[in-house]
Amino acid sequence: MSSTYRTIYALLETLPVVSSHEHHWPDELQVGLTLERIFEKSYVGWRGARVVGSTPEARGAFLARHRGGSYFTWIEKGIQRVHDFDQKITPENWDEVSGRIERRHSTPGEHISILREVGRYRRAVQDTYWQYGSDIGHPEMFSPTMRTDMFVRCFHPAVRDHDDNNPFACYPDAPRGDFAAYLAWLEALFTRWRGAGAVAMKSASAYERSLGYGPGDLRAAAAVFGRAPETVDGEARAAYEETMFNWFCALAAKLDAPFQVHMGLGQLTGSRPMLFAPTLDRHPRTRFVLFHMGYPWYPEVGALAHNYRNVCVDMVWAPIISPTAAISALHQYIEVTRTNDLIAWGSDTWTSEDAVGALLAWQHVVATVLAEKVENGYIDMADAERLARRLMYENAAKIYGFAERP
Ligand SMILES: [Zn+2]
Repeated sequence: MSSTYRTIYALLETLPVVSSHEHHWPDELQVGLTLERIFEKSYVGWRGARVVGSTPEARGAFLARHRGGSYFTWIEKGIQRVHDFDQKITPENWDEVSGRIERRHSTPGEHISILREVGRYRRAVQDTYWQYGSDIGHPEMFSPTMRTDMFVRCFHPAVRDHDDNNPFACYPDAPRGDFAAYLAWLEALFTRWRGAGAVAMKSASAYERSLGYGPGDLRAAAAVFGRAPETVDGEARAAYEETMFNWFCALAAKLDAPFQVHMGLGQLTGSRPMLFAPTLDRHPRTRFVLFHMGYPWYPEVGALAHNYRNVCVDMVWAPIISPTAAISALHQYIEVTRTNDLIAWGSDTWTSEDAVGALLAWQHVVATVLAEKVENGYIDMADAERLARRLMYENAAKIYGFAERP
């Protein structure tokens, strides 16, 4: 690592952090956290299976299987930073490390102190997909995003989205018979959330369908609404989803809320960022935030940001997917975005240890990119410092309307 990298990294470690996207767990799930639980509720254990086991052999096999992967690398660094040690996690020290984690998390709210004091998080946009619109009881740290997925997917109480949500189960007062009444109810719900402090809208529908949304058709959607799912064919379902998605794009403009859109690493056949270009054309007044560098198609996100005035770029999740790709992507995004206030970041995690690890990954990416740009004469150190502040907190604060300053 060069001295320029070290200088920039040292600056980053003093800056506040504003995050564009978290799925942070509420107090009751943070109390009594263990090492195993942290791994399970991270991208290392993403597939939901019990990943560790409690024998030394099982733990050794788990560590051997995951070491070298980016998710494991950064979460281990996060655990080390939060719990103040620098040895690797091994089957031998597992119980000692886990006990340290459990003791620290025996105090309710300790997870927030870790975010604030170790991670320097000042504010974060929270995506509580298990309870839409919630700030998990910590309005001092979290501002909700308004998730759209179940409303885009579900036209009937028997249809569930990829998180197993359904609007009629979550909101028993949602009108079931009349589509116009349902849309009026939905607009009132989102307007209420916005008024109560929600700062964005969010779609993760690329986990279950293509980003290639057509224009939709309100009349066709009204004909599908409330019908038993076995009577609705694929084409009619798609028409419903497209209508609802476009309806939300228009609502985002009306509520003046940036619309965060998951790209890449969803259903890979349909999560390619370029598929979203017609929607960007269709809704010039909506501010779209393109997530996750659209991995693996990160140059496409750069091209969209270059050509469209209604696009921001968000590196959320990207540094822990692949720091190598994120370094390349950030180099390009700094070069091609119209102005340098359009790039932000979030950790996209459930626990504070993981959030700190993801932050360390982001700091590594930012320091590497800015140091390389200084060393090859592209920018000077003063520019690098200005960009560092923008990337760590100023851009996210501006995009989501926070008034955060160091
Ligand atoms: Zn997420």
